Amino acid sequence: MASCAFSTSASTPAGVKTIVPPPLPHPRHPTHFTSSLPCDELSALGQDDGDEAVPVPDNILSTPRMVRNAVYSFVNPEDQSENAFLLGWNKEFAKELGVDINKIERSQWSEQELDHLVKLLTGGGRKIPAPQQNEDDAVKGPRETQPWAHCYGGHQFGYYAGQLGDGRAISLYETVNPATGQSWELQLKGAGKTPYSRFADGYAVLRSSIREYLCAEAVAALDVASSRSLAILSTETMVVREEGGEPGSIVCRVAPSWIRFGSFEIFFYRKDRINLRRLAEYVCDEVYNLPKDDPQEMATFAEQFRKVEHEKAPERPSEEPKHVSAAVEGEAQGAPATSKEPKALYRNRFAKLFEQVAHRTAIMVAGWQAIGFCHGVMNTDNMSILGLTIDYGPYAFLDKYDPLFICNHSDTEGRYSFQQQPGICLWNLGRLALTLENLIGAQERVDDLDWLRQQESDTEKEENLKEGARDIVVEILNKSFRDVFLKNYRRRMNEKMGLGGVDQIEDTDLTEIVVPALAWMDDYEVDYHQFFRGLADYKVEGANTVDENGAQIEALVKKLLPTPVHLARGSVAEKEIKGWLVPYHSRLVQSLDLKDDQTRRARMNKVNPAFVLRNWVAQRVIERVTESVMKTREESKEVDPDKDLLDRILWMCQHPFGEEDTSKAEETTTSADGTCEIKRNDAGLEVYGEYVGPVPEWGQGIQCSCSS
Ligand code: AMP
Ligand code: MG
Repeated sequence: MASCAFSTSASTPAGVKTIVPPPLPHPRHPTHFTSSLPCDELSALGQDDGDEAVPVPDNILSTPRMVRNAVYSFVNPEDQSENAFLLGWNKEFAKELGVDINKIERSQWSEQELDHLVKLLTGGGRKIPAPQQNEDDAVKGPRETQPWAHCYGGHQFGYYAGQLGDGRAISLYETVNPATGQSWELQLKGAGKTPYSRFADGYAVLRSSIREYLCAEAVAALDVASSRSLAILSTETMVVREEGGEPGSIVCRVAPSWIRFGSFEIFFYRKDRINLRRLAEYVCDEVYNLPKDDPQEMATFAEQFRKVEHEKAPERPSEEPKHVSAAVEGEAQGAPATSKEPKALYRNRFAKLFEQVAHRTAIMVAGWQAIGFCHGVMNTDNMSILGLTIDYGPYAFLDKYDPLFICNHSDTEGRYSFQQQPGICLWNLGRLALTLENLIGAQERVDDLDWLRQQESDTEKEENLKEGARDIVVEILNKSFRDVFLKNYRRRMNEKMGLGGVDQIEDTDLTEIVVPALAWMDDYEVDYHQFFRGLADYKVEGANTVDENGAQIEALVKKLLPTPVHLARGSVAEKEIKGWLVPYHSRLVQSLDLKDDQTRRARMNKVNPAFVLRNWVAQRVIERVTESVMKTREESKEVDPDKDLLDRILWMCQHPFGEEDTSKAEETTTSADGTCEIKRNDAGLEVYGEYVGPVPEWGQGIQCSCSS
């Protein structure tokens, strides 16, 4: 079993051992998640502070098994610290997490601090003590938090798969950044077996860890909500996958919460209503900080509506409370009253929770569609309750625009193809809604537990509850998912096209400009990202119509059309692009604000990345880092032949907008072969260069294996 004692690795001159903590923020003690939610009983034995009981050995803790009545199990990461190395450290996120400002850079750490960090993140058993709060704590000794694995279920490729859970991710601790008040949960992916590992090994291979480490930062920098990456480490573990033995690795990834849609589903399908409610309450209170339902408001509602409904006297009171009118179907949009009396619906905190999840999921997937990101495995166990992009597997950014693009080898039917993503989010929200139906359907009586239990124990009454929920759910899916998705997608696409901000959107922009552009990009295999960067260079000044702009158009067409398409279907393609430019050009010249070429270009280049973490780029990093890890193993000391590549690519992921970021990329030189411009960032690292150019021939159509 990994030792629970924390490090005493440095000695003072007097011989008194002092603690050298790793450069990480303190844990919150007690952990809100584990202290508020039910724990797997077996794993809880001997874990409490001051409990004299003998802790359960690790091999029993991590034996695959069905875990009931629990949101998590206590586990210990496997000790993989022997010859482990820190390959990457994300100093930009370290600041956001709340790492001491004097310990943000690796160069600021002592050897012992580095050693302690590596041990902590590879299960070496040393923990970080939580700060003491009173004298009693001091007597008891340092307080530590106990790592855990989440228990959840989920729909995989459309079918409910039963218990899944964190099979190779272990949450280390929670921390709160005092400067921002943000709470974070640090997780180690690849940290060894848990009760949820089923038949698998609990490890992650280096290539999948590199992909997750980089992409989470790339997605966040493109303004789409995501989990974040703090560090990546190599371990000595040889991990066996389809392709043979591969080096093992651990990513330390971080999110405000790792609760998933599947966390709710597991209780729903087990008919465990008590724990389902506890989890829902926790997410309302701790994750979303939703206000509690106001009992007075609920009572008023009951008084005015339920009574009349039951008496079948649907006379509407002349003066309704505001929240009631807003909840009545149709009235929120000012629709005229119909002869059929609309049913009053009360949205309790669980309905509001669902609304929030739908809203955030809509914003996330609108972001994916705009930045050209394909997730690949949108099973409900990979859907964050906070609408974050999580669990990066066989994902890909589009190269050429292709709505049917499938990035996941195993997805033979294209369930998770690029164009399916918004619809799949909606379907997944439908699965989540099922789990909340009784709580939402109980409306203003949700806290009348005796009544609720009665309803749930009678099939017909329970059906009424669900019936009551459905109208609320449908309205939320329409307003908080569909409308929010469309609004955000339109805004983002208009910004990408240089058509101004949210207040400048015109009804026809989507149908006459965005959709036709996507159609010919698809037809002529135009690179999605290069298109927008190229379009930013289009100038309208001095030309009132497209016809007066011949030279500009030639330049644009040349830039956009890939050579083979140009040769084969050049004139047809050119004709179509020119046809598309007619409404685009006139849309720009109509507005003083959009007409200014320089301003528009600068604005477009702030939302359209020059650098994209394409599969070929990730593949190159994987090859180089793997090579260096293998050499390090052979020579038993750290060897890095392509020093800084991982750091450089991480920096580009975090600063994807290229040349506009002049304060960060200071110096420009030309590469030795004269083919591309290389810049140096503020840390003197060479960045951009070939990585912002067209996809090299060898890198076209690269697909990544899913056995991670
Ligand atoms: P994913 O699709 O990668 O999110 O994984 C689906 C489920 O399989 C989750 O419960 C994972 O924890 C589990 N899983 C995937 N790979 C492994 C592994 N190597 N060891 C243990 N569990 C795994
Ligand atoms: Mg997963």
